[in-house]
Amino acid sequence: RRIAEADSVAVIGLGRFGTSLAIELMDSGTEVLGIDEDEDMVQSLNGVLTQVVRADSTRLEVLEQLAIGEFDRVVLAIGSDITASILTASLLLKLDVPVIWAKAVDERHGAVLEQLGVHKVIYPEKDMGRRVAHLVRGAAADYLEIDKGYAVVKTVVPQFLHDITLTEGAVRHAHGVTIAAYRDAKGSWRNAQADTVLHDGDIVLVVGPTVEVERFAQLR
Ligand code: ADP
Repeated sequence: RRIAEADSVAVIGLGRFGTSLAIELMDSGTEVLGIDEDEDMVQSLNGVLTQVVRADSTRLEVLEQLAIGEFDRVVLAIGSDITASILTASLLLKLDVPVIWAKAVDERHGAVLEQLGVHKVIYPEKDMGRRVAHLVRGAAADYLEIDKGYAVVKTVVPQFLHDITLTEGAVRHAHGVTIAAYRDAKGSWRNAQADTVLHDGDIVLVVGPTVEVERFAQLR
């Protein structure tokens, strides 16, 4: 079956990163064309993605045959073979794919992709390393830096906030962060309000400057 190119995504390179990305896209309702030159890889994702093709993405005629130029979004997830990544990127640009996301294994690889004109260059290992550093360092259960210097953390509600309202706790004023949401004892997430009362064991989602949210996550 042929997939509707415009609202679907082509993922080139089905290694650990590409596969996990492709499956997540499928789970959230996006049709995915997966491309990899490895037969075993293609076999294992057959029936999991909308369509999986065994092909060498460094060949223009192959990309043309697959109508890659018709896709609005292509993710180039070849990492370790930097030559293949760069050759493929240049062909995707030649085919005028409107939005190309490409994974870079390091800064030099990323710099070349950016110079070529790839729209979004991502550094999964570097970003994950930084993220985990924050988790290792602090007490946060989860951490996401939204932008340089601004983050969201998931953490247990500190004792000073037990059984009083957020207004009474003066969280924003005293700690420079905003509690955006919380998970109650029953396990459901709710948006936090000024009159929300939190209890021992609740989990909160805290938003604010990185330094401030990290400090907040250390509180017990
Ligand atoms: P990860 O670190 O996410 O596992 P890799 O870079 O190791 O990523 O995996 C890249 C994938 O891209 C591999 O499955 C490999 O077979 C595939 N690949 C590499 N070169 C090409 C190419 N020229 N055409 C198509 N697929 C390729």
